[in-house]
Amino acid sequence: MTSSVATLDASAIGTNLRALQAAAGGVPVCAVVKADGYGHGALGVARAALDAGAAMLAVARVHEAESLRAGGVDAPILLLSEPAPDELAAVADLGTAVVAYRGETIDALADLAARRGTTLPIHLKVDTGMRRVGCDPSDAVALAERIVTAPGTALAGTMTHLAVADDPASATTARQLDRFDEVLAAMAAAGVAPGLVHAANSAGAIAHPRARRDMVRLGIALYGIAPDPGLDPVRYPVLSSLVPALTWSSRVSFVKSATAGDAVSYGHRHVVTADTVLATVPVGYADGVRRDLGLRGGTVLVGGVARPIVGVVTMDQFVVDCGPDADVAIGDEVVLLGAQGGARCTPEDWAAHLDTIGYEVVCAIGARVERRIR
Ligand SMILES: *Cc1c(COP(=O)(O)O)cnc(C)c1O
Repeated sequence: MTSSVATLDASAIGTNLRALQAAAGGVPVCAVVKADGYGHGALGVARAALDAGAAMLAVARVHEAESLRAGGVDAPILLLSEPAPDELAAVADLGTAVVAYRGETIDALADLAARRGTTLPIHLKVDTGMRRVGCDPSDAVALAERIVTAPGTALAGTMTHLAVADDPASATTARQLDRFDEVLAAMAAAGVAPGLVHAANSAGAIAHPRARRDMVRLGIALYGIAPDPGLDPVRYPVLSSLVPALTWSSRVSFVKSATAGDAVSYGHRHVVTADTVLATVPVGYADGVRRDLGLRGGTVLVGGVARPIVGVVTMDQFVVDCGPDADVAIGDEVVLLGAQGGARCTPEDWAAHLDTIGYEVVCAIGARVERRIR
């Protein structure tokens, strides 16, 4: 018996992609499948997204692109950050599109591609305010010309990344897009064609029509997870049509009764206040359940009801308080994330308890958790 299974609902990826694309005015979609498809299994997500019409896939690491290719995916893949110098040759071999923003990287890629007799598609990333990676707007035209002029590279795209897209009230997104437009105008004045222009992540695609451009890069929303609890589903109705694409489930491994005053797990940080039935679940922080989830109010589903995780989560197991009248047995299904009966536990619920975002909850699901596709 596997201790827990994360099952991807491939049809949910298709449903979400189509809904988001329609809400964004039909613009082409780049499906972001980095971090093993946000913990959902990159290959299954990639295939479902491509079946639903995604124009391109995006990953963060060279080995992520390599495993998609090894899995038989031959659609265009965009590497979202510059590879390290010792990874450039692998990128040239793969021939995927690659984001670049430093002259040295562009020259090295051009050189490697020219020696292989190929042309690498480059997306020039302009830092309009995220201040993570990307060239200074004042360097963009020169770098674009460098990409266009070198025999081994082609300017396939010009992009930026939004820092505050999940807050529609912030003026930052408009300022970033103004800066981006100034760069695009300068490129036009210099006679450089920018290729595909793209700026929006999920929140940008949903909440900022001006960010949509030639393509939107959809990550979190594709998985049926809201980018931010602050995005209002009344104002952005597509949020209500998103379907969670992941079910993370396990089975009860042990059951015991506890009496009032009994304390649970390391440090005895939870004390049972009334007689109850405790169930043990063979999933722990090494699988991606945060150690303090129970102490902060996190729940899982047992018998179709949300039940509290009690005590600290240990490396391989946690304990659930199933209530005094629980009819629970070894082997019963436990749903950590997903639906059971009429109830549902979402990454957003856990994130609210843990003071983080749904992204971190699903990306934490560990390598020990078996991945399946439905
Ligand atoms: C991860 C990432 C995305 C996807 O963001 P979501 O908020 O998950 O939609 C888009 N663009 C870049 C550059 C990214 O790194």
